[in-house]
Amino acid sequence: MACGHPTDFGNNQSMLAQKKLFSAIALAGVLVLGFIATSVISYFLAQDSVSNRIARETLPLTSDNIYSEIEQDLLRSVLISSLMAHDTLLRDWTLAGEADPAQIVRYLKEIQRKHETTTAFYVSDQTRNYYHADGVLKQVAADDDQDAWYFRARNMNAPYEINVDTDTADPSRLTIFVNYRVTDYQDRFIGVTGIGLSVNAVARLIASYQNRYGREIYLTDREGHVTLRGPGFEGPETLRERHGMQGIATTILTNPSASVSYEGHNGRQVYVNSRLIPEFDWYLIVQQAQSSAEARVLGALLINIAVALAIAAVVGVIGWFSVRNYQAGLEQMAGTDALTGCTTRRVFEAIFNQALKNALRNDVPLSLLAIDIDRFKQINDQHGHAAGDLVLHTLTDIVRSHLRDNDTVCRWGGDEFLILLGDCTLANAVLVADTIRADVARHTIRPGEDAIDCTISVGAAEYQKGEELRSLVARADLAMYTAKREGRDQVANA
Ligand code: GH3
Ligand code: MG
Repeated sequence: MACGHPTDFGNNQSMLAQKKLFSAIALAGVLVLGFIATSVISYFLAQDSVSNRIARETLPLTSDNIYSEIEQDLLRSVLISSLMAHDTLLRDWTLAGEADPAQIVRYLKEIQRKHETTTAFYVSDQTRNYYHADGVLKQVAADDDQDAWYFRARNMNAPYEINVDTDTADPSRLTIFVNYRVTDYQDRFIGVTGIGLSVNAVARLIASYQNRYGREIYLTDREGHVTLRGPGFEGPETLRERHGMQGIATTILTNPSASVSYEGHNGRQVYVNSRLIPEFDWYLIVQQAQSSAEARVLGALLINIAVALAIAAVVGVIGWFSVRNYQAGLEQMAGTDALTGCTTRRVFEAIFNQALKNALRNDVPLSLLAIDIDRFKQINDQHGHAAGDLVLHTLTDIVRSHLRDNDTVCRWGGDEFLILLGDCTLANAVLVADTIRADVARHTIRPGEDAIDCTISVGAAEYQKGEELRSLVARADLAMYTAKREGRDQVANA
């Protein structure tokens, strides 16, 4: 009987453990990657839709509302001024030579009171008198810069113009002036009338949007200088100097409307919507930092990832245990002979190495018995294979009954067994071997009606320092062959 090449069982074990761990980690890793991939995709989709909504819906809507408020005020101002310019009283009084200024002052006062305007005025071209609610303010003069508006209106083709005036002391106050040309009944120019209206409603609307939605709303002129702003406005008053806006200022100032974004303070994206208000030649700018909705989307992503990690960890642990149990089952199956319950050849070397370590550490002898059933082929032939199996089974029972707990019985192949005897000299091994041999010889095995008397031949060998398992097995084998040669049913030693 030959001994197979020893396999490095210990190394195999640690490789298998590594593989187990790797499988569990790979499983968890694939799950994490899958979860993260889907989470990140949905995060970007959600973020995209949120920012799209801000950029394409929310901000333009705010801008529209403010613009329509401005338009409403403008329309009202133009309407009042138009009524004044066409008023026969004003025209007749002028054509009659502006006899009683108190009459027109009363008229202007009434307009101012009734329509709650900031001012109501009339400049007659004939006298250049500037009438307003409190009397004659002054006479306009062509060489006075402050009166340039009058001479502009005097020469224009359009019936009226709109002027915007901000209070330099308080830029949140805006006054719209409508300068309406007044003509006589032959369409000859006789003066300019109109009102000044403070656009408080616009300012209030801007303030309310700012407070309620955290949007920043302001107006700039063509050059980007801030002309009107809400209460909490901070930072430089020129678009190009405002934080993060250098790159987008030109886009805003060269397009009638724009939807852009920039990176604001603390890295938050700020969405900007701008539109030109042609009546003022100003840009209305509405901007909003990354919304809480986006923060929620990010929060959801982080929760998703945390859940993914938790699930992956649980799956990984479950996977690891499953693989471990499954493998343990396989190892048990691979390490145990199904018929006899003996250790198999596959794991014997690991057991031998362990026993050898113990023996060397404790400085005790280690012996090996090689047992082979005599003429087993005949038993199979005469009584059948099942009876042969019973003989193998019974034999191992007998062998075990003579061993200690930590001795190992290995089915080496067919009808050959190796018995590893720890802390056992050759002499003692021979004694144990002979006891077993005698017990087997005494037994009659009865499969059904049959009676089988079988014997065994045993070779005994003691471990010699430095030798390998292969050599020890070969010597025990050799001794067993000697026992066979010398008549079977006996023990020989190497
Ligand atoms: P020897 O005394 O020289 O050992 O003669 P032998 O007939 O026993 O010869 P050998 O040991 O070579 O024969 C082993 C036989 O064991 C051959 C094979 O048919 C039989 N055998 C091997 N495995 C099994 C098994 O699992 N069950 C049964 N019933 N027979 C087996
Ligand atoms: Mg045999």
